[in-house]
Amino acid sequence: MNKRIVILGAGESGVGTAVLALQKGYEVFVSDFGTIAEKYEAMLLEYKIPYEQKQHSEEKILEADMVMKSPGISEKVGIVKKIRAKGIKIISEIEFAYPYCDGKIIGITGSNGKTTTTNLVYHIFKTAGFNVGMAGNVGISFAYMVAKEPKDLYVIEISSFQLDDIDRFKCDIAILLNITPDHLDRYNYEMKNYVASKFNITKNQTGADAFIYCLDDEETINFLKLNPSKISAKRFPFTIQKELEEGAFIKENKLFINILQTTFSMLTNEITIKGKHNQYNSLAAGLAARHEEIRDEILREAFSTFKSIPHRLESVLTINGVEYINDSKATNVNSAWYALESMEKDVIWIAGGVDKGNDYTSLIPLIKKRVKALVCLGDDNLKLQSTFSGIVDVIISTNNMKDAVRSASQLAEKGEAVLLSPCCASFDLFQNYEDRGDQFKECIKNL
Ligand code: ADP
Repeated sequence: MNKRIVILGAGESGVGTAVLALQKGYEVFVSDFGTIAEKYEAMLLEYKIPYEQKQHSEEKILEADMVMKSPGISEKVGIVKKIRAKGIKIISEIEFAYPYCDGKIIGITGSNGKTTTTNLVYHIFKTAGFNVGMAGNVGISFAYMVAKEPKDLYVIEISSFQLDDIDRFKCDIAILLNITPDHLDRYNYEMKNYVASKFNITKNQTGADAFIYCLDDEETINFLKLNPSKISAKRFPFTIQKELEEGAFIKENKLFINILQTTFSMLTNEITIKGKHNQYNSLAAGLAARHEEIRDEILREAFSTFKSIPHRLESVLTINGVEYINDSKATNVNSAWYALESMEKDVIWIAGGVDKGNDYTSLIPLIKKRVKALVCLGDDNLKLQSTFSGIVDVIISTNNMKDAVRSASQLAEKGEAVLLSPCCASFDLFQNYEDRGDQFKECIKNL
């Protein structure tokens, strides 16, 4: 009899797993408690995969041999508890797909910078002519790619949720960018659980594999100190604070990658993506590239042709000498910190939305230095207004993008920038951060 896999959640990773499982001879059932998006329902119908939505039929789910839980579903959900109680194995999508994958894997995780770094690594290997695919949280799921578009090399963006339920999954090259508080609600409000989950990216690695990590990241370094023998892979650190004999670093406006007895260097202003955070992302990506022996001139070309991705410090337009920058993806304090830090001009800062219990203290020095006016954009702007009154001279409250952009443009003078870097989630006024960023761009074009 065929093995029976039940898939909880019919989004990108759920449907990708379903397609791969079907191809490998499993009996598949997909269950989604919400409404399945049109695109994914069409795929389930196309492949004739049985599914249900707006419910979880317990009797069907609990007779599974194995369950794939989509990353968005919490352990606290009733049906997940019942599956655990019955002792049915729960795995993540990357775990399910892994045994069927013949290619090499570069896995990228961290609290911030995953999507940027994944795109950059992909761009470098693409430029070098590899048969490479980009999967995971960006675009196509790893499982779908393994089933339908197999590659020699997979560059995968991996969230901590994907890393929670892995068993055999292994990265040839694992990149851990940074660890700052996020999603703690899913980790019993314990930072150590979240850190451990991120370090799962090194699970199963051997001495033949590589682990690329940030020497300047406190949580990462603490974990390595406390668990000296937990990581078997060869370690390649990166930093912007000092020179390294082996590793990657920044010195006097130059990026250096010293690895496997070779040195690569390049002026940071020749790299298209800007800001300290992007220096970190470039160092990490560069280490992965040089580990795979990508040639100097190819890496140089890739760094100087990489296009920044939408909604991440995206320079939209310059009107009357005022630059408009869309950083809608900055949904937490840390990412907004890097945005403000990278500003070389005075800024009219548009911020606000759903506050996830933010502590804004770390932003104050940068705000004093750079921010001329704050335009709050949210359903409830009281916390932002009270936190920054006395720190920013001009604070304006708005509750729609049109007003926010109009106010910001009136305040901005030639040579200054209007920066949307909200620090907050978007769902009070927008569908998601893309919708927020798109509306920002639209309003600018209509100015
Ligand atoms: P993720 O996929 O981890 O959410 P993104 O690349 O989408 O990361 O970037 C999310 C936000 O974080 C953006 O506002 C971006 O400018 C900022 N950011 C990018 N890289 C870093 C980094 N290394 N450290 C801190 N913030 C970063």
